Amino acid sequence: MATAAAALVATARLLLDGAIDLLYPPRCLVCGDFGPLYLCAACVSEFETAPGPACRRCGAEAERLPGAVERRTNLCRRCAGGQAFAFIAARGAFAYSGLVQTAIHRLKYDRRRRLAEPLAMAMLPALARAPFADRSFVLVPVPLHPSKLRQRGFNQAELLASTLAEQTGLPLILDAVRRVRATEPQARLKGRHRFANVEDAFEGVPGALAGLEVLLIDDVVTTLATANACSVALLRAGAQSIHVLALARGGGALPGDAAARPQE
Ligand SMILES: [Zn+2]
Ligand SMILES: [Zn+2]
Repeated sequence: MATAAAALVATARLLLDGAIDLLYPPRCLVCGDFGPLYLCAACVSEFETAPGPACRRCGAEAERLPGAVERRTNLCRRCAGGQAFAFIAARGAFAYSGLVQTAIHRLKYDRRRRLAEPLAMAMLPALARAPFADRSFVLVPVPLHPSKLRQRGFNQAELLASTLAEQTGLPLILDAVRRVRATEPQARLKGRHRFANVEDAFEGVPGALAGLEVLLIDDVVTTLATANACSVALLRAGAQSIHVLALARGGGALPGDAAARPQE
């Protein structure tokens, strides 16, 4: 009954959002300024992009993790130390901090789904400048477990991927991978426990991605444990290769790293 009640609450919230939009003109859902957009240009201009060289594998930012990326190999300590990932490379469009963090919280926890479209638009320059930008990808969002989907009413990664697909013309594939195990929120766990927590949480449909190059889309990545577990399932679904693009990249879990550990 709890899940049915949660679904009802989620539906009621969506209806309420719709009613509010009829009564009031659009306003930026981050700063509150009235204007034609649900996310104003001034707020987007405050989003922090990755300031310097990133680990070519996992996208960890050198500047946020001082001394973390070796100049010679362009790998962070974790990747140079043999951290194995099922994807080829991962990038975040923005650093998970400041207004982008606020925007993601408003989208996910305050359920302001109208933020998804402008947030996806803000990801486009990062997609264009990513070292893997020239591939002919299919876009796959990281799926939510059905219980979480009922609770929230939408999958934020799917909303982001949907707008990215519209804008780029890349195909969107939604039914190739499922989240089959509800997991403890990653934010409550430390680095290596996050990998154990999401192991086998995803299941790929055999053959669904045969020979395709996948760009896996998520809202936030930190240790990349979730993206990695999902990538394993995508490979089982026949994907030829996987890259990851997230709206925001958290600090990661390097030893001594005190950066924020957002929920993945
Ligand atoms: Zn604003
Ligand atoms: Zn790395």
